[in-house]
Amino acid sequence: MAVLSIVLPAYNEEQNIANTASVLDQALTEQGIDYEMVFISDGSRDGTFQEIQKAAAENSRIKGAEFSRNFGKEAGIFAGLELTTGDAVIVMDCDLQHPPAVIPRMWELWQQGAEVVEGIKSNRGKESLAHKLSAGLFYRIMSKLIKMDMNASSDFKLLDRKVVDVLLALPERNTFFRALSFWAGFRTETVQYEVQERQFGQSKWSFWSLMKYAISNATSFSTLPLQMVTVMGVISILFSVILAIQTLVKFLTGTAVEGFTTVILLILIIGGFLMLSLGIIGHYIARIYEEVKGRPKYIISRVTGNVHGDVAGAWKRRPSR
Ligand code: UDP
Ligand code: MG
Repeated sequence: MAVLSIVLPAYNEEQNIANTASVLDQALTEQGIDYEMVFISDGSRDGTFQEIQKAAAENSRIKGAEFSRNFGKEAGIFAGLELTTGDAVIVMDCDLQHPPAVIPRMWELWQQGAEVVEGIKSNRGKESLAHKLSAGLFYRIMSKLIKMDMNASSDFKLLDRKVVDVLLALPERNTFFRALSFWAGFRTETVQYEVQERQFGQSKWSFWSLMKYAISNATSFSTLPLQMVTVMGVISILFSVILAIQTLVKFLTGTAVEGFTTVILLILIIGGFLMLSLGIIGHYIARIYEEVKGRPKYIISRVTGNVHGDVAGAWKRRPSR
């Protein structure tokens, strides 16, 4: 019988683990879906991992791991994928904002041959205005940069084992899970869902962390910012041709003295363009530097008793004595 794996990244979610585990268990058992749950505690500073261990002790189909520090949700998702053994994998938030009620539909589509089932938000849930604005800006920029409509997409999706293996084989460290499933292709279906309210605790995203996420994803998924540097260069060349002609004409007609304002403006504009370009190039160099170092995406410090074998090559389980 086919097994469904569920990956749940969790950062400081001690209040959510037990509740989410039992809600999912109930929903899946009701549907007669054979499952496993993989909780990844992303270097939580509260009792998240203890909660995971407790859940694993109660239900052998639950397993989990703890990171040595906070590596971010992307790393959590990939570590989770690495630990799964099921024929299909669903990634979802562990605060139940992604409704478990949608899982049976995703499962059904998978059984009918879909290899990727994207969860599409039909609303954005209840969020603060600041969060809405920054998230809105974030998705607009992202959609432009990677030429895919990211506005309604989310990390809530089902992937066939084939697709999971493709994603896990990618050598890059700076991943953007949400867009990578688009990039990978495969037979894709979509499922609409309504974003629920967070069960316990609060959102882990601040305005700045979202902006940092946007920039890092934009540079890891698109080279458009680099092409913008070229565009800025072309604009300043056009501008300088016009000014050069004007300056020469003035010089030849003998009225070339009061050009001081122009000089200051030119220095400012060109200086600004140069700095901005260097900054953009710098971002890519930083990305290249990080990739070249070849460090693992995450480090696992602990796992629940029912996890065996190598985990992602980043960490090896000691042979038990
Ligand atoms: N999360 C994570 N690492 C982080 C931040 C968040 O694993 O550094 C997890 C978090 O525990 C949750 C999911 O990612 O399961 C979504 O986070 P959150 O609910 O804070 O974001 P929002 O739903 O507000 O976008
Ligand atoms: Mg949430």
